[in-house]
Amino acid sequence: MTIHKDFKEVFITREARIRDAFELLDRTGAGILLLVDNEQRLERTITDGDLRRELLAERTLEDTLDTLPQRTPLTIAPETGSTEALAAMDEAGINQLPVVDDRGQVLAILDRRDFDSRILLSTPHMGDDEFQFVREAFRTNWIAPLGPNVDAFENEFCDQLGHRHAAALSSGTAALHLALRLLDVRQDDIVFCSSFTFVATMNPVLYEKAIPVLIDSEPGSWNMSPLALERAFEAATRSGKMPKAVMVAHLYGQSSDMDPIMEICDAYGVPVIEDAAETVGTLYKGKPSGSFGRVAAYSFNGNKIITTSGGGMLTSDDPDLVARARHLATQAREPAPHYEHTEIGYNYRMSNILAGVGRGQLRVLDERIASRRAVFARYRDGLAGIDGIHWMPEPDWSFSTRWLTTCTIDAQAFGMEARVLSEKLQNQGIESRPVWKPMHLQPLLEGAEYFPHGNTSVSDELFATGLCLPSGSNLTDREIERVIERIREQAS
Ligand SMILES: *Cc1c(COP(=O)(O)O)cnc(C)c1O
Repeated sequence: MTIHKDFKEVFITREARIRDAFELLDRTGAGILLLVDNEQRLERTITDGDLRRELLAERTLEDTLDTLPQRTPLTIAPETGSTEALAAMDEAGINQLPVVDDRGQVLAILDRRDFDSRILLSTPHMGDDEFQFVREAFRTNWIAPLGPNVDAFENEFCDQLGHRHAAALSSGTAALHLALRLLDVRQDDIVFCSSFTFVATMNPVLYEKAIPVLIDSEPGSWNMSPLALERAFEAATRSGKMPKAVMVAHLYGQSSDMDPIMEICDAYGVPVIEDAAETVGTLYKGKPSGSFGRVAAYSFNGNKIITTSGGGMLTSDDPDLVARARHLATQAREPAPHYEHTEIGYNYRMSNILAGVGRGQLRVLDERIASRRAVFARYRDGLAGIDGIHWMPEPDWSFSTRWLTTCTIDAQAFGMEARVLSEKLQNQGIESRPVWKPMHLQPLLEGAEYFPHGNTSVSDELFATGLCLPSGSNLTDREIERVIERIREQAS
């Protein structure tokens, strides 16, 4: 049973004035005050409503609490279990319940919020087999970074998702960094990048001191706008500063519209890197997200749809590129017994232990996708009558995993801004997040050139109104219901 620590803060006596009581309620942010006698025995509880009724009965703020009627408070004994306590609160329609001993002395205040466990945005969800693979690594002492799980994870990833070649790496960011190296992106080279993304898309561009040019999203998929991309290429043609590569980020489980994007990039002869960190298992026109460009990067970070605790994968149809990625990822060691090096390398490989976790996670990927899509469907159905909530669209060419359920909030229609709703949910123990802050709005990329979708910037609008809701595949029905109820309560 969780206990409210500073419960003595809300003690008040009959000598206090109504004004003091209001101030105490305000200052402590507690929903109730406890009226106690000289021996700290509980006489009754006082709410905001009780005080207002006193004022309506012609009393003034300067009057004392002496006139408050006697009322036996609802309390519980210290040995009461959580379920019973919660049931008592439900029955009385209250959120706080004093715990009182047999002498009438207050021991604690239970708060409903302490009972409801926190609901997080996206948490790791292990299957049955991960530990088996990790145990095998221990049993055979394959603790040294590379080993059979790494090879198997790469092969199984390719087989299951429809890729030709893959290299398992320490993170999605490492995969993106190697992708740039594979395409020989260097200092002062230009890279066109999705602006609406997580900073990890951008950081490797900055590691190489290349120059990002930022491309807006389109409203239909929230991902890279082919229109803005085309305009960026036209401008580059005019200035003679063509990009060395185009980085396309796919967000929240949904691919970008790859046909027009590939058509444009092919026409200009510029290779595409797909940041598919958030689209493991996603399809574009029936083909796997990440199978369209020269190279793709996936992430198995702890919050992603499947996780190795931390890890990534680089894929390509070109076996030479993937072989070179493995070479760069293992300190670019030349094939000589005496440690020969001709270029800069990295320590970017995935360990054999974590690859074991990845193998187990691959086996439940389809279930995880089904669960995430089901979470989205429940929100959509449960909030169907509420004005002002617009879900991230899923175009007919898309099969989104709905890694995160995301929406925009029309403040006018809903009654409050996304940010305010997020705070309200936070107060109820529910984690929600704004959508990614676009890179062209980040101090880190100040001065970077930016091409909006049209006359207005789509990603600015998404950032101003977007919200990600708890979406984990391990959420219970009751938890999703709780989020839906709390959102319904806020709607106007
Ligand atoms: C998570 C993520 C990354 C980075 O992946 P890590 O494995 O955490 O390095 C890159 N891009 C996007 C869009 C992501 O969401």
